Amino acid sequence: MVGSLLASSKPYVILARRVYTWFSPPEVAEALVTYGGRVVYAGSRERALRVGRELDAEVLDLGDSVVIPGLIDPHVHLESLGLSLNSLDLREVSSIEELKEVLRRAAGSGTGWIFGRGWDQERFKEGRCPTRWDVDEAVGRRPAVLVRVCGHMALLSTAAAEELDIERRVGDRAIRDSSGTFTGLVVEEGVGEVMREFWRRVDDPTLSKYLLDAVSAAARYGITTLGVAGTSLRVLSALSKLASGGSLPLRVRLYLDREAFDKVVEASLAGPIEVGNLRVVGVKLFADGSLGARTAYLSEPYEDEPGARGVKLADREVVARYARLAEELGYQVAVHAIGDAALDEVIAGLAGCRGRHRVEHLSVVRDDQLEALGKLGVAGVVQPHFIVTDWWVVRRVGARRARWVYRFRTLSRYVQLALSTDAPVEPVDPWENIYAAVTRGASEGVELSRYTKGEELTVAEALHYYTYGSAYALREEGRLGSLRPGYLADFAVLDRDPLEVGVDELRRVRVLGVYVGGVRVL
Ligand code: ZN
Repeated sequence: MVGSLLASSKPYVILARRVYTWFSPPEVAEALVTYGGRVVYAGSRERALRVGRELDAEVLDLGDSVVIPGLIDPHVHLESLGLSLNSLDLREVSSIEELKEVLRRAAGSGTGWIFGRGWDQERFKEGRCPTRWDVDEAVGRRPAVLVRVCGHMALLSTAAAEELDIERRVGDRAIRDSSGTFTGLVVEEGVGEVMREFWRRVDDPTLSKYLLDAVSAAARYGITTLGVAGTSLRVLSALSKLASGGSLPLRVRLYLDREAFDKVVEASLAGPIEVGNLRVVGVKLFADGSLGARTAYLSEPYEDEPGARGVKLADREVVARYARLAEELGYQVAVHAIGDAALDEVIAGLAGCRGRHRVEHLSVVRDDQLEALGKLGVAGVVQPHFIVTDWWVVRRVGARRARWVYRFRTLSRYVQLALSTDAPVEPVDPWENIYAAVTRGASEGVELSRYTKGEELTVAEALHYYTYGSAYALREEGRLGSLRPGYLADFAVLDRDPLEVGVDELRRVRVLGVYVGGVRVL
């Protein structure tokens, strides 16, 4: 990340092969004039240069490159993303034997905690979940925490389980084998408890490094604003130190977790709280878990586990109470709802709310829920890359319900869609995410694509939801997500035109520069 190459208060003329100011339908300019961190003109080169001369502006000729509004990912987990950038990536591991090999190499002769993320037993040859005994074989007495790809299940080594005293702490969220012995696996609130204890062992400078690593990683892909879906007062404090010192390069919007938000409510702190590039805008709630861990709350049993319907983590009363508290103080709620039964609770909880709230994921939505969802006026924050990662999803819900899964085009007719990655659950790379929205895993042979034909988005639509749609989810659609005059000068410079290239080339789009408020940050 370079220092500020542009001072935002000065006027600039920006010339490029093409400047997209809007995507639905696409609006194109030849040049921009920015002044005081905002776009003041978008239009022809000639006129931009003339205005520029009168303002004594500096001319920035970006040559053959293409300028788009900065992308906005409204749902990431910043500290977890930073942690995952600094830990073992287990996404490609295809067997428990390979997992042990990766762990053995990582353990080496070192000491201290080992952290890994991304394993998925669905990929494992052995066809079972790994256990703490597998991990112990590879790492011995070192404490290790390995979070499943979905973030709703984690595996601990015996040493880690003992140091965190986790079996006692998490009760029935600890998975036991048929003889009643703890396997090292924990789910849902159990994962939360493990992570809280883990983070307590991470010092402040390391936390700040993780946060900045995460922000830098996002910037490299053309992202200019991030929404953090559920975080602590400690992360708020670390980010606000960075923001007030001018060292937070992107705009960051925080949704606090329930515990942190309760403190904000207790103290009656009106929102949004703003420090430089940072804003506290709401609270994140969970109505259920994930399809991967079979904790997403469904109205009918799982196809591949007929006794289970998932876990309800918040009911309509809780959603309604938080929505009311948030509205009174000027905040939003963002509710995680993956299963259709969880969505029933959210719809009932948000009915009658006046403010604009968000529903996260919307993975399984029945036909009869669409109208009710539409009446709420919510933003639907969806993650197209789930289609690729959850390639087994038809097995979970069966053929009849498959039609209801990740039905983005249908949803777009009822709610304002916003695209996000949920990083580090999915790669933070928006171009991979857009590719998934456009192709729905058809070339990768993902079964769901056959059941949900017609739910593909176009590239222009995907970019619209990654800019305007995401700005809408953050309640900032009047100033972010477009390069029309009056909008903040947040933009990305690309090596090619995403609306011109073939589908496969979408994943090869390179970002040559990123500007936030007219200041170059990459
Ligand atoms: Zn999330």
